[in-house]
Amino acid sequence: MYDVVIVGGGPAGSSAAMTAARGGASVIVLEKEASIAETVRTSGVTWIQNIKEFGIPEDCYNPVRNFGFVSPNNEVVIQDEEPRAAVLDVRKTYRWLARQAQDAGAEIRTGTNVTGVIKNDDGSIAGVRAGSEEFRSTMVIDASGFASVVCREMGIAGQWEHFGAGAEYEAEADTVDPGTWWLMVGEMYSPAGYAWIFPLGGNMVRIGVGVGKPESDADPRQILDSLMESRAGPIKKLGKITTKEFHYGLIPNDGLTRRTVFDNLMLVGDSAGQANPLVLEGIRYAIRFGRDAGRVAAGAIKAGRTDRDSLYKYEKDWRSQIESKINSARRIQSRWMSLSDKEWDRELDIICELEPDEFLDFIRADFGIGRMVKLAVHHPKIAVRQLFRLVR
Ligand SMILES: Cc1cc2nc3c(=O)[nH]c(=O)nc-3n(C[C@H](O)[C@H](O)[C@H](O)COP(=O)(O)OP(=O)(O)OC[C@H]3O[C@@H](n4cnc5c(N)ncnc54)[C@H](O)[C@@H]3O)c2cc1C
Repeated sequence: MYDVVIVGGGPAGSSAAMTAARGGASVIVLEKEASIAETVRTSGVTWIQNIKEFGIPEDCYNPVRNFGFVSPNNEVVIQDEEPRAAVLDVRKTYRWLARQAQDAGAEIRTGTNVTGVIKNDDGSIAGVRAGSEEFRSTMVIDASGFASVVCREMGIAGQWEHFGAGAEYEAEADTVDPGTWWLMVGEMYSPAGYAWIFPLGGNMVRIGVGVGKPESDADPRQILDSLMESRAGPIKKLGKITTKEFHYGLIPNDGLTRRTVFDNLMLVGDSAGQANPLVLEGIRYAIRFGRDAGRVAAGAIKAGRTDRDSLYKYEKDWRSQIESKINSARRIQSRWMSLSDKEWDRELDIICELEPDEFLDFIRADFGIGRMVKLAVHHPKIAVRQLFRLVR
């Protein structure tokens, strides 16, 4: 019997475990893999501002200062004065997060695949099952990512309708600029999505392709292999490439459609659909809202009330932070999904007009109202104004 059972030892689960344990709750994290981050399912791009906010150590990431964009007939690079993006060493970071949770007193049980739920007479959750083992608890946090195993077993959510599928190689390459990333757009790179090269530091890179589902039935791995073989766009600049590891993953892209608090139950991270749809990044939300969820859970346990209304503060807070931004980003995303190669060539010219901080706010979907209105009304380029009118 625990106060809080957390399903999933990804960034959301570990972060929730840390704050719940710090708040005095007895906490166990159940992770199906044999070790934390055994399988990497993410490219690990995030933002230095968030890394500092979370206290992630410096040896966990490679800073990125320049942002290259390639379309079939255009190439632009936005150069910043200081690095504001980063590519995480995913294993190191996720294991650091898990250690933080353990240091706070949470138990982490790996090799434990949650397969079912235990319910109270009133239908609310009372714990989970992993095969023949039972883990009873006052509260459950579903941090199982795309699989959303708890809410699916509870019958409160089904399969995601829209999602991204990504395939990626971690590789060593001859010629890497560790301070520059590349995003590649247009039909040849991905029929509904984009391809990328993210530098990991030294001569290491992650080269990948993401495809939007169900918009396209293309297999991202096949596209990736053919781009590597034809050495398309900036892949050519890498010289000889030696692949080291293959990554594959799925990320929800339905927007913020799910309720995230129920009696005795909270959803966080990908299982809550908390992702920026522009580049399908969710790690920073998983950590921040994971921490928030753990705090609210510990408070509710202390107060002896873990019904939906008592947990609602968590949902209200995270929605107030990102809901309108995500909705704006979805409008840009649907514009991007419909662009032809020629239109992408022109879109890059618009993006190139942005100052580095404008570009970063844009790609991070960090749309502050004042700034967006300014860009939509006063930017010297009409095309930029039109783009930001969409955001507004
Ligand atoms: C190809 C790809 C590239 C991406 N690139 C980026 C990026 O560059 N930057 C970014 O910010 N985001 C990126 N994302 C998204 C990012 O990976 C997620 O938003 C983030 O991992 C969400 O964290 P989470 O803890 O909610 O879920 P996850 O990281 O998926 O963690 C869930 C955990 O639950 C465990 N689990 C699942 N089912 C069970 C079960 N039944 N029992 C026990 N444990 C279970 C899993 O093994 C896993 O460890 C990418 C996603 C994909 C697919």
